[in-house]
Amino acid sequence: FEVAVLVTGGAGYIGSHTVAELVEKKEEVIVVDNLEKGHRDAVAGAKLIVGDLRDKEFVKKVFLENDIEAVIHFAAYIEVGESVQNPLKYYNNNVIATLNLLTAMEEAKVDKIVFSSTAATYGEPENIPILETDRTLPTNPYGETKLAVEKALKWCDRAYGIKYIALRYFNASGAHESGEIGEDHSPESHLIPLVIQAALGKRESIKIFGNDYNTPDGTCIRDYIHVSDLANAHYLALQRLREGKESAVYNLGNGKGFSVKEVIDVVRKVTGRPIKVEDAPRRPGDPAVLVASSEKIKKELNWQPRMADLETIVSTAWKWHLSHPNGYNDK
Ligand code: UDP
Repeated sequence: FEVAVLVTGGAGYIGSHTVAELVEKKEEVIVVDNLEKGHRDAVAGAKLIVGDLRDKEFVKKVFLENDIEAVIHFAAYIEVGESVQNPLKYYNNNVIATLNLLTAMEEAKVDKIVFSSTAATYGEPENIPILETDRTLPTNPYGETKLAVEKALKWCDRAYGIKYIALRYFNASGAHESGEIGEDHSPESHLIPLVIQAALGKRESIKIFGNDYNTPDGTCIRDYIHVSDLANAHYLALQRLREGKESAVYNLGNGKGFSVKEVIDVVRKVTGRPIKVEDAPRRPGDPAVLVASSEKIKKELNWQPRMADLETIVSTAWKWHLSHPNGYNDK
């Protein structure tokens, strides 16, 4: 069999866009996904193995039955609020399942992994823009589980020589330019798809979670990054590992913040549709401002975003949602 890159969670939002990027780059790709949140139709051009990383025997078998050169690991739960309600669910799926994966990698002598990490590892930031060297102090179990894996990776590098690149994403958004794959979470909790649903008349209004933050318009500021720019960073990270370079951690954002109100205005402009807003209480655990410095990945991996502009990002999301108002159910 052919040597392949294993993408866990490759049927999910960022995973499927990364699979598209790898396939475009003529990589041989195998996706492992339990399809709990992912969508079969989001995977094109790759073999899909349906299974769960919490199942040790399953993970072992994947490595025995396939010739895997490197791993890109997305599979995880991602809901901050739910992680506070049910931390064990998060520790099981985000930490224990990852340890199963690392164990299988070590046994199969696979020594390269790109890991999906998050801005949530920082918690309340010390500085804006946030640097990779800033303090990590997660304020919820979701961020804590991602940081726990980063730390496990560091020790697995030292002990077994497994090289890793951890990518700390800020706010992934937008959709593939083709409009064929995009964001389809259930339940949807992210700002841009929710505002677009309001523009489509699929929801009454959009709730603004807090209007009394210490920001110019009182609403939270985030750094939105196009999912295909994220996807490309995974490809560059993989190349870097193939060059035999040292392990590293990189932020991924655009270095520019937009408030919730500004995002809603951009969606109004792009869609030309009216959007009703409603003030709502703050969402627990939301820092006022999260903006990344991505200078390190630009410098070291020569990463350059192609769709840094928020209007462009929203336009690609709009294209996806217009053609798939019910997500992958419309396929
Ligand atoms: N937000 C909001 N209303 C919503 C969903 C999100 O006001 O219905 C806010 C949220 O409080 C945060 C920003 O939009 O300040 C981005 O939230 P999202 O969940 O998209 O990403 P996060 O920053 O939590 O990763």
